[in-house]
Amino acid sequence: MAQLSMEERIAGCLIGGAAGDALGFPVEFLSAESIFRDFGERGITDYLLTEGKACISDDTQMTLFTADGLLRAEAAFGDPTPDEYVQSVYESYLNWVSFQTGEPLAPGVPASSLPDIPALRERRAPGNTCITALLSGRCGTFERRLNNSKGCGGVMRVAPVALLLAQRADCSRARADMVGARVAAITHGHLLGYLPAAFFTHVLGEILRGAPPERAVEDALFAVRILFCGSADRSRFFSLVRRAQELARDRAVFDDLDAVRELGGGWVAEETVAIAVYCALRHRDDFEAAVVAAVNHDGDSDSTGALTGNLVGALVGLSGIPARFLDPLEGKDVLLRTAEQLVRM
Ligand SMILES: [Mg+2]
Repeated sequence: MAQLSMEERIAGCLIGGAAGDALGFPVEFLSAESIFRDFGERGITDYLLTEGKACISDDTQMTLFTADGLLRAEAAFGDPTPDEYVQSVYESYLNWVSFQTGEPLAPGVPASSLPDIPALRERRAPGNTCITALLSGRCGTFERRLNNSKGCGGVMRVAPVALLLAQRADCSRARADMVGARVAAITHGHLLGYLPAAFFTHVLGEILRGAPPERAVEDALFAVRILFCGSADRSRFFSLVRRAQELARDRAVFDDLDAVRELGGGWVAEETVAIAVYCALRHRDDFEAAVVAAVNHDGDSDSTGALTGNLVGALVGLSGIPARFLDPLEGKDVLLRTAEQLVRM
């Protein structure tokens, strides 16, 4: 297969994540039993449209605000430091929470460059942790944690960090990974709320550079072990990702639901990422099969769908995503425009 261009991979990643999110959103709070009863033996395989649109959820909204913060940092500073990137993303998230609550932005907070459209303003089951943290008036960091949450709300929005920083020749992988973790730590204070974001940033960065997914995952495990050397709790994450790799390779696994169930529900970040790793390794060439596996289970279907869609979208590129997942996708124009803005080479 011809090498995909950076444009193809970046657009594939953003559209893929939004498509997985929109496919999973209607079944986020349904058990597997209810999903298979309501949608048939393969579960939900096509968007459930609302007034002709496949609605995105908070995962995609916040992903767009992550991209907005990174892009505004570059516009303001040219060559931002990690602190400048993170501060700017924090300010973009304050814009998101202002959209969500209807409260005006605090004085001094710059307005985001995103359009004020219903897709970004409507409440789509936003995570409590994100809302509460962003209304606290403080930006969470590794040292000044706002809570002890390891919910997946931190990791589900970090893809743009990898998309932008992987293209910067002067930005080391470790630096990019730490920006990913710090962006998650703005709202999520538990180690397992932000370490998986460093890992995910690394995996996605390697895929953008053209690495096969197994190698990207191996490389990321190694990198994150060093970055978070000595941290308690991290072994739980590593063993879950190892299990996801084994399940993806295991020819005796016939049913994605069995594999996903073994990895958990995806409500907490280490499980969300492990489920996405399984789905992406197992179905790397088949976007539909990957996102269908990622959303048809008891757990947090939109977030597992979003992360899987990010990974497989970057692997197959925009042209590898079936048109039926693109045409009715809400926010498609702003996603495609943001993808263009993120391309640097
Ligand atoms: Mg959501």
